[in-house]
Amino acid sequence: MQVSQYIVLSDSVLADGQGRSVRIVLHSSTGQVYVLDDGILREMLDDHTSLPDAVIRELASAELLVQDGHDEFAVLVEQNIQATTAPHRRTFVLMPSAYCNMGCGYCGQQHFKAPQSGQHRQAVVNRILHAVRAPETRELAVNWFGAEPMMGYAQILDICAAVIPACGDSGVRYSSKMVTNGALLTLDKIRRLHLECQVDHFEITLDGPAELHDVQRPLKSGRGSFARIVATIGQACQDDDLPDLRFRIRTNISRGNQDSHELFASAMKDAGLAHPKVSFYCTLVRPWGNDVSEYAVPVDQVIDVERKWLRAYQANGLATPLLPIGRVTNVCVAVMPTAEVIDPTGNVYSCTEQPLVPGRKGAALGHVVDLQAPRLRPEGRYDSWNPDLLGNTRVHCPTCSIFPICGGSCPLVWHEGTPACPPLRSTMPMRLTLYGESIGLRPVG
Ligand code: SF4
Ligand code: SF4
Repeated sequence: MQVSQYIVLSDSVLADGQGRSVRIVLHSSTGQVYVLDDGILREMLDDHTSLPDAVIRELASAELLVQDGHDEFAVLVEQNIQATTAPHRRTFVLMPSAYCNMGCGYCGQQHFKAPQSGQHRQAVVNRILHAVRAPETRELAVNWFGAEPMMGYAQILDICAAVIPACGDSGVRYSSKMVTNGALLTLDKIRRLHLECQVDHFEITLDGPAELHDVQRPLKSGRGSFARIVATIGQACQDDDLPDLRFRIRTNISRGNQDSHELFASAMKDAGLAHPKVSFYCTLVRPWGNDVSEYAVPVDQVIDVERKWLRAYQANGLATPLLPIGRVTNVCVAVMPTAEVIDPTGNVYSCTEQPLVPGRKGAALGHVVDLQAPRLRPEGRYDSWNPDLLGNTRVHCPTCSIFPICGGSCPLVWHEGTPACPPLRSTMPMRLTLYGESIGLRPVG
């Protein structure tokens, strides 16, 4: 037997109720979390053959020990290939506007005002309808993305009015979500988007408490947006007609807001967002085809900063996925030949971070007016991401302990020659310790 490649340990030894030294152990490919005796754990990692047979059998049944020569990585990649190429699900990421009403310093997109032609809008609808009516299609996801998608609210209503009834007629399951800055949302618009357009999930960025958010994410008009966004989400939480609606609040952590965890979390609680419809997460400001070195949190502070934010969420009763351990088979739309991104001018891409980014001009695969058939989009740059991982690859994923729950993070960033690893790679051991504390284990020493 050999030790599984997919073991991650808490960064601290903890004590259980009997005073035993234990660690939290994540097996990232099965998604199971264990509390294991630290002595047994060390023996397993040093020389598991010295452990009693019964213990070895138990560790093997948890897949912490696997057969010699078993290629765990290849099995996972094969699963990912099956998932990303499944023909029954089609995904469209639609960018209804090239303009954004905010001007965030870290944004890598270039925004402009450009009215869409009726012909173009109809071509988008037609392309989706071809996909809906293809015999193999059983699921359709339409995700709204920007620039700021709410700048194209009228188009969203129009497209949904054509597509959703067609899904009903064809027995295709429809789902939708929106990434928005939230400033143009009102309760009435949220109701229409949820009840008519079936948007069940809004991802909204709030970059800290009011004064920091309004500086880091200023409206182009010069006004602030924090108070309005928070009040609108609060109203939607109280609306009993919207029980299935969910908000995910993202905070981009930069040097400017990295210490504002307490102020932010208590402001969210005071605004009534410690609510089952709302969850929170933070991530680090990262390059988007641009230089963010002026904003980025120093690497040696990442674990401490994330720990502070997670503790503040917990202390204020805000929901946050402490252990994001869901299996990631589809790392993103760019590796799914069944998914496509249509930008505001009708150009079709495979990746969401190619349109509107000046340094990535020329990445379009075609134009929606020319792609009027049920066939999939032309081949994209990252379609062979998973098969390529099984060959000679320069990326680090084949030896990484969190590949099952990461999937490679961002093929585009790897292709541009930079490791794409999310903060989770360094912060998961800290998160496991926090999890241990949350179930009543005590820090040792
Ligand atoms: S390749 Fe990277 S930027 Fe493009 S869709 Fe995937 S995760 Fe997003
Ligand atoms: S991107 Fe980084 S963290 Fe994710 S699987 Fe690859 S090596 Fe691991």
